Amino acid sequence: MNNNDFGFDTLAIRSGHRRTSELEHSEAIFATSSFVFENAAQAAARFAGDEPGNIYSRFTNPTTRAFEERLAAMEGGEACVATASGMAAITSLCLAMLKTGDHIVSSRSVFGTTTSLFEKYLPRFGIETSFVGLTDLDEWKQAIQSNTRFMFLETPSNPLCEIADISALADLAHENNCLLVVDNCFCTPALQRPLELGADVIVHSATKYLDGQGRIVGGAVVGPRPLVDEEVFGVIRTTGPSMSPFNAWVALKGLETLNLRMNAHSQQATELARFLQQHPRVEKLFHAGLESHPQHELARSQQHGFGGVVSFVVKGGREAAWKVIDSTRMLSITANLGDVKTTITHPATTTHGRVSDELKRISGIEDGLIRVAVGLENIDDIIADLSRGLDA
Ligand SMILES: *Cc1c(COP(=O)(O)O)cnc(C)c1O
Repeated sequence: MNNNDFGFDTLAIRSGHRRTSELEHSEAIFATSSFVFENAAQAAARFAGDEPGNIYSRFTNPTTRAFEERLAAMEGGEACVATASGMAAITSLCLAMLKTGDHIVSSRSVFGTTTSLFEKYLPRFGIETSFVGLTDLDEWKQAIQSNTRFMFLETPSNPLCEIADISALADLAHENNCLLVVDNCFCTPALQRPLELGADVIVHSATKYLDGQGRIVGGAVVGPRPLVDEEVFGVIRTTGPSMSPFNAWVALKGLETLNLRMNAHSQQATELARFLQQHPRVEKLFHAGLESHPQHELARSQQHGFGGVVSFVVKGGREAAWKVIDSTRMLSITANLGDVKTTITHPATTTHGRVSDELKRISGIEDGLIRVAVGLENIDDIIADLSRGLDA
């Protein structure tokens, strides 16, 4: 199918599937490590790259391919390579793009393990990272060097839901001969398509909303064909962090309902935020769907919804925050997100537990901060569960 002729939901449901001679209606899982050849000459042609076709599931598998093509279509990207996890996607992109002496500029508000990769592991190979405030364009500008290869960010940020101006940062990257990489985990292409706003490369943790039901760990890189199909694919083929066909199938089926789920997550999150906004125990509230959010207009202009995360500071610091968390009976106390089940986290002692007090202060990770990734249970039940601790 020609992707330009179809709407987003059609692509999510129909693209990437090549029916086999069995005429299956739902996509098949090709649970096979290798593929056979008609004869020795075909094997030679496949290995030489002269003939397209399957060889070995570390780098080609029809189920994984279907997931890759579908996600590429939904992001509006030329090519996609699936990976074993979101971190494998980011690491593979780094291996594909960087060499000793190169430099990255990254938002300070990125996933904790991404920070560890940039801060602890890349310097071993002579690659340095400068960390900047997500919304401070001047700080990004100041941090760029002649050896900067890419700028890296997540928007909305976790857990404070700050919004980056993707177009402005893409322009800045291009003026400086580097690429803009966006981790589109929080919004997914259902709510935000960074490539249309000028970004060059998307990374995903399929573990989150793409699966959406907490069943698998997976990831993906989406972007221009030469970079993704040659460089990133080459790294994955050589180093091996491939997505398994079963995980690809789960994520592929997740994509079919992504738009419905993301819109429902967004609606529920905004409803929860409106409830928390009038609660006397809530000191600060972070969700871009509220008109009071400093980048509400920017979020409206570059997103189709505000996402499923709501964070808030409860009066009384760590003790009060833990009490709200421990008083819930239904919400899952877990650091994961992007699930139909609502999750609740205390960032200061979990996801950001090993971050220095100084960095926590700069990043706004207060002791009273609670992050809720709003799921799809009835919103009244979610509010009632949170109210137990808030009203106590
Ligand atoms: C979870 C997450 C990752 C890492 O993904 P894994 O699948 O756990 O490796 C990267 N970025 C963001 C924003 C995430 O939430």
